[in-house]
Amino acid sequence: MKTVNIAIDGPAGAGKSSLAKGLARCLGYTYIDTGALYRSVAYEVLCRNISPNDVEQIKQILPEVKVSFRHVDGVQRVFVNGEDVSEKIRTNEISSAASIVSAIPEVRSFLLDLQRNIAKEQNIVMDGRDIGTVVLPDAAVKIFLTASTQDRAKRRFEEQKDTEHAVSYEEILNSMLERDKNDSERDIAPLKPAADAILLDNSGFQPNETLDSVLKIVGSRINV
Ligand code: C5P
Repeated sequence: MKTVNIAIDGPAGAGKSSLAKGLARCLGYTYIDTGALYRSVAYEVLCRNISPNDVEQIKQILPEVKVSFRHVDGVQRVFVNGEDVSEKIRTNEISSAASIVSAIPEVRSFLLDLQRNIAKEQNIVMDGRDIGTVVLPDAAVKIFLTASTQDRAKRRFEEQKDTEHAVSYEEILNSMLERDKNDSERDIAPLKPAADAILLDNSGFQPNETLDSVLKIVGSRINV
């Protein structure tokens, strides 16, 4: 069976995961959060007291990192070597480490097959940085979602402010700027729109407006 894949790329805090989850729900597809895969590798690296910059050690441990998605009570959870890390990978420390390890070519190729195999098995909405350009170049619809840096940092701040991972707005803004720089300037699979991606800037949008706009785009491209 040929599966239908939808790619959502863009910088941190643009609302990719809310959009991808909403879209997957409306279409009856599976949502795949590829950022969680890079975060999981970063989690394992930090747990083993390895520096995210230590390329040689990271390359050595990769075969021992088994990352998988599983549904628990209808909610998708991320597991690393059998441990449910779904919440633990959401800290700022892991965000920064994920951005560093994701620039290592061996880390990217290690996760590439996993992502492509998932996409072969089912209809999916996948979000990340290089889905439309590298992972799924033949995706039926590609969206590049972005927003102003201030809007993106404000949204992340609002998401985290009542959680145990809460940090100041300034800290979020600075780490976001650093991640944007790492992600877009790295040599391998940098963050950039695919030539055939539809660009959507959702600065100032209400949460539903992004999903509504993208549902219209998807409806005009594929039979839903
Ligand atoms: O999307 P999220 O913020 O969870 O991603 C964490 C980090 O993982 C990003 O800053 C980026 O460096 C990396 N990433 C990537 N390619 C993807 C998804 C995430 O390089 N497809």
